[in-house]
Amino acid sequence: MDFKGRQTQKCPRCGGKALLSQTKCPCCGLSFSKLEVATNKAASERYKNHERNAIVFVKKTPIDLKKWKLILFGTLFGLFGAHYFYTRRWWWAILYLLGFALLSVCVVFNGYLVGVAGGALIDALAFFVGVYGICWIFDMIRICFGKFKIPVSLPKQSDVVVLEEQK
Ligand SMILES: [Zn+2]
Repeated sequence: MDFKGRQTQKCPRCGGKALLSQTKCPCCGLSFSKLEVATNKAASERYKNHERNAIVFVKKTPIDLKKWKLILFGTLFGLFGAHYFYTRRWWWAILYLLGFALLSVCVVFNGYLVGVAGGALIDALAFFVGVYGICWIFDMIRICFGKFKIPVSLPKQSDVVVLEEQK
């Protein structure tokens, strides 16, 4: 297909190009209108059932979540990974909790650690804390500009229909 000079959109499932006017991805057959009704809760259930290929990451806030809540949680409790807990991205949420634990250790035991192991250990720990802090800032920028990816899933029935239509 010739996309030159025409407005295109990127398929959130396969990354393929589609025209803005197209309702379905020409590469994988994903029905874009279905994403409007896809929920974050369904994605979580799919994940539990090990149906990861049914999960699509979208930048638009799904119907069962609120963007203002995402911004609020991310701003107030983002260092605890609240924005990941809210969007049910558990692995990232746990990483953030670990980051916060590391930060606490550095702050509380700073003097002790320097005394025992010298500055090198604190420097190494501070590096990881820095990476974690930068990740959080980037997350907040992504959330504010609508670039933060949220997992959603489509109802099972529609997936079958999509595959059928593709044939
Ligand atoms: Zn696609």
